Amino acid sequence: MPASYPARLHAQASVASSLLRRPRQAPNDALMPQTSFSHVDTWVFDLDNTLYPPSARLFDHIEVRMTAWVMATLKVDKDEANRLRVHYWHTHGTTLAGLMREHDVDPAPYLEDVHDIPMDSLIPDPDLAARIKALPGRRIVYTNGCAPYAERVLAARGLSGVFDAVYGVEHAGFLPKPERSAFDRVFATDGLTPERAAMFEDDPRNLAAPFEMGMKTVHVAPDPFAAAHIEYHTDDLSHFLDRLTE
Ligand SMILES: [Mg+2]
Repeated sequence: MPASYPARLHAQASVASSLLRRPRQAPNDALMPQTSFSHVDTWVFDLDNTLYPPSARLFDHIEVRMTAWVMATLKVDKDEANRLRVHYWHTHGTTLAGLMREHDVDPAPYLEDVHDIPMDSLIPDPDLAARIKALPGRRIVYTNGCAPYAERVLAARGLSGVFDAVYGVEHAGFLPKPERSAFDRVFATDGLTPERAAMFEDDPRNLAAPFEMGMKTVHVAPDPFAAAHIEYHTDDLSHFLDRLTE
């Protein structure tokens, strides 16, 4: 699981917006080209900070539990645990990948533990549920968390039963996004055709492989992030979907 994830991304986004703050050509809602998505028959959604707003700060709870797990498992103090998480992040992409590769940690109990967090900060979003249901074709969730956690989040958001499938890091052999092989594995399992699919994500890095694979890419976040592999940006997923299906 991604340690330092939101903080790091936030830093990246802040740097990007300060350096690249200029009108982007992309996502002008007035010109929202439904036709650009008319070939899409599979809609892939990230979970955390995509299907609920970052203001819910759910990841703060997960980070606390990841630190506690590293402390207990590796018998280190809090400072060292946080240093290790940053090290794993840089070296292996996520905390879990580092724990697995450097310490042979069993991923299943780790995932269960770090995702055992309260959902109090999430509220149902019937409007988003209706918009997603209105999309023509197959709708799936693909998260770097685990599927049981994703189901809990979806339930708290009133999105249970809206998706045809929910995939977690366990469906990618515990390889995380943004690794291309993780996407390859999950998409092969699902049977989707990337050239006829769209990906919605808050993490700009996780849109690179989907773009390479021929998917439409939509960055869902409060601030835009200028990158060649990001085709659209929205800070309001419901509104964006509404414009696609109206
Ligand atoms: Mg996310």
